[in-house]
Amino acid sequence: MKLNETISAIAPSVTLAITSKAKAMAAEGREVFSFAAGEPDFDTPDHIKEAAIQALRDGKTKYSPAVGLAELRSAIAEDLATYNGLQYEPTQVVVSCGAKHTLFNIFMALLQPGDEVLIPAPFWLSYPEMVRVAGGKSVFVAAAESDGFKVTKESLQAAVTPKTRALILNSPSNPIGTVYEPNELAAIAEFACENDVVVIADEIYQQMVYDGVESPSFATLSQDVYDRTVTVNGFSKAYSMTGWRLGYLAGPMPLVKAISALQSHSTSGPTTFAQYGALAALKGGRDCVAEMRDAFAQRRAFLYERLDAMEGVTCVKPMGAFYMLPGIGSCGMDSLTFAGKLLDATGVAVVPGKPFNADANIRLSYACSMDNIREGMDRMEGFLKGL
Ligand SMILES: *Cc1c(COP(=O)(O)O)cnc(C)c1O
Repeated sequence: MKLNETISAIAPSVTLAITSKAKAMAAEGREVFSFAAGEPDFDTPDHIKEAAIQALRDGKTKYSPAVGLAELRSAIAEDLATYNGLQYEPTQVVVSCGAKHTLFNIFMALLQPGDEVLIPAPFWLSYPEMVRVAGGKSVFVAAAESDGFKVTKESLQAAVTPKTRALILNSPSNPIGTVYEPNELAAIAEFACENDVVVIADEIYQQMVYDGVESPSFATLSQDVYDRTVTVNGFSKAYSMTGWRLGYLAGPMPLVKAISALQSHSTSGPTTFAQYGALAALKGGRDCVAEMRDAFAQRRAFLYERLDAMEGVTCVKPMGAFYMLPGIGSCGMDSLTFAGKLLDATGVAVVPGKPFNADANIRLSYACSMDNIREGMDRMEGFLKGL
């Protein structure tokens, strides 16, 4: 069958491929220690589930407005004001089917054929595929491990062309856990304003930061920055609601209007009763988030200590999210070979860095138990010693 050329060129997600191989091994009865998870391992908090169940009982089973429930958009605007210092009207908020969908809508609404999008690398692997589908062109801005995997004003400047339209800023980041500091954000803001670049601030991991570090919302930096930024967030990571498929954006009105129209003809509003669960998440306070964050903080400290002590492994200490991207380049293997051999030999599943543009690195998620980390790291250490 003849297919659309752009869509046929999309690479299937390698993160999912490794997870399914690990699952198949476990099904055959082999012990598997997985560090491949891309989602929190906690259940969704009960008060959120109860609210969705109640909504079903109350008959909230019909279409919601295409941009999301009015109550939820108001609650999101209030949440952004209270916790992020961001002033958005509820009408500037669009709720979509996961932040992934939000990002997809943004690229579709923003990009003209050939428009360039700056993507700091290593990057979350879905960004370039979405840009491609929307007709844009990804321009990777390499950030070295020795620089803590951070881009600078200078490195961004070097990648600008007359076609540069947007920059994706993902802080805290997947797959590294990088959190940009306020002075670094200020330099990036200068870059964006001087070059008239739209900034897509993917802040989905914003509540997951450690050691008291702050992760300010990019749009708070100045009025000029606010006017050119679209803030992206969602419920998946902070509230452990990945399967609920709810994300949102807040941003400039023309973009919001275009996305509202697009969404009204594609998915329509996200699942109505799920949105009532999200409303309960925002109204219920952040104690449940803090509990999960404390568990992540403990695992992060332990995993970092183990990786840092391993011969032949380098590791930038992550300040946020729930990933680490240790370097394994000195083993003389690329990331796919390393991840494959490690899985076969020890049952330890990690994600190869290649699709994140980090072929000398592997991604480990610590959205798993302490026991998994302990045993998994013992085995990985043994594997490295045996090389
Ligand atoms: C998980 C993730 C998202 C989107 O998550 P949704 O479940 O679609 O809300 C967006 N950006 C990054 C960097 C992520 O890791």
